[in-house]
Amino acid sequence: MKHSVSHLIIGAGVAGESAAQAIRSVDADASIAMLGDEAHPPYDRPPLSKALWKDGREDDIWRPIGKAHIDLQLGRRALRIDRAARLVQDNAGDSWEYEQLLLATGGRPRQLSFGDDFIYYRRYADYQHLRQRVRPGARIAVIGGGFIGSEVAAAMALNGCRTSLLFPGPAICSRVFPAALAAAVTAAYRERDVDVRSGITVTGARSDAGGSELLLSDGSRLRVDAVVAGLGIEPNVQLAQEAGLQLDLGGIVVDDQLRTNDAAIHAAGDVATFPAPALSRRLRVEHEDAALQMGRHAGLCMAGQDAPYRQLPFFYADLFDLGYEAVGIVDSRLQAIEQWVTPYREGVVYYLDSGRVRGVLLWNTWGQVDAARALIAEPGPFDAGSVRGRLPVKA
Ligand SMILES: Cc1cc2nc3c(=O)[nH]c(=O)nc-3n(C[C@H](O)[C@H](O)[C@H](O)COP(=O)(O)OP(=O)(O)OC[C@H]3O[C@@H](n4cnc5c(N)ncnc54)[C@H](O)[C@@H]3O)c2cc1C
Repeated sequence: MKHSVSHLIIGAGVAGESAAQAIRSVDADASIAMLGDEAHPPYDRPPLSKALWKDGREDDIWRPIGKAHIDLQLGRRALRIDRAARLVQDNAGDSWEYEQLLLATGGRPRQLSFGDDFIYYRRYADYQHLRQRVRPGARIAVIGGGFIGSEVAAAMALNGCRTSLLFPGPAICSRVFPAALAAAVTAAYRERDVDVRSGITVTGARSDAGGSELLLSDGSRLRVDAVVAGLGIEPNVQLAQEAGLQLDLGGIVVDDQLRTNDAAIHAAGDVATFPAPALSRRLRVEHEDAALQMGRHAGLCMAGQDAPYRQLPFFYADLFDLGYEAVGIVDSRLQAIEQWVTPYREGVVYYLDSGRVRGVLLWNTWGQVDAARALIAEPGPFDAGSVRGRLPVKA
């Protein structure tokens, strides 16, 4: 069957949902269709590793897509884009003619070459799967010491599981946090009885009905009831690549209107590589705030309200009773200037490169995201002496 719409959105995540709301907010008559390959309507992913393991309710994760009055097609995968004909083919054999197309295809979890029964944590279905395995005393191995792995490990421990966290780096989130902070976080996990094994690679696995036995790079074995992996994502660029759209930094290149090199196709969210003028470079980020803001902006542009996208996204995480917000490039390879009120509990970390502030980590420090953005936009030059104290620590 052939459909014809003014706006077609591929990907029923937060970027797609936010775009649909924005289009509808300026164009009551737009015919908007959305193809999503998951079985569920758009939802927030952050609660899958946070609130839903504490006091959060599943009813609260769903985005208000109903308000946008769109043709939402779930379990539908877009297979091909014919740019000349402005036509998308889906896996049900339908074709979708569009005037404007948004690619909001996000990313899929990186997988190992073994461990077919591991839970590669990304989707609500993964949460449901893990939920069935979690009970007090269950042995859970979490592979990956970055954002997702560290949050899931904390969630498992909070739910009474005997939790092992395995990763090759020296400490939890060591690619992001300065070494002493990463070491303090790792120590805090151990105090919470998480069996943290740094410097470890999982080299193989044997699984049976009762769980898995992991083979570890130090020669040991670990028997668990379930394995969760958080190894980062691969952006879903295949459609764009096959359609000849420009790619960079692993994502789809967009201009400051979030338009690809085809004026009828925009991209937003985890899959888009966008210009960040405050940092004088392109960025591709995998954070919800960026997906929401870019989705909204792309939707407005697609509905004819062009304006440059200049937002510098922030992100946040919860690790037991520690929490943080971060803006810009937070990368432990940059020069990190630390400002602690209480060491590793309340403070600010500034990330400097060539005399500019490129990123700010607000550690149990709240209400400073806009001030951090303004600091990153300042030309500097900054050094340790002049940057320390620029943002107050507000617990
Ligand atoms: C467990 C977890 C916790 C997180 N916590 C945080 C956090 O605390 N803070 C934060 O800032 N960010 C967090 N994130 C990241 C955040 O959720 C993502 O940045 C955000 O979901 C990206 O939204 P998106 O719409 O760009 O992509 P996605 O959420 O990946 O949505 C894209 C959708 O498109 C679908 N799709 C892909 N290809 C096709 C196709 N060809 N046809 C149809 N559909 C397709 C995908 O299946 C998916 O449903 C977390 C992510 C996870 C998984």
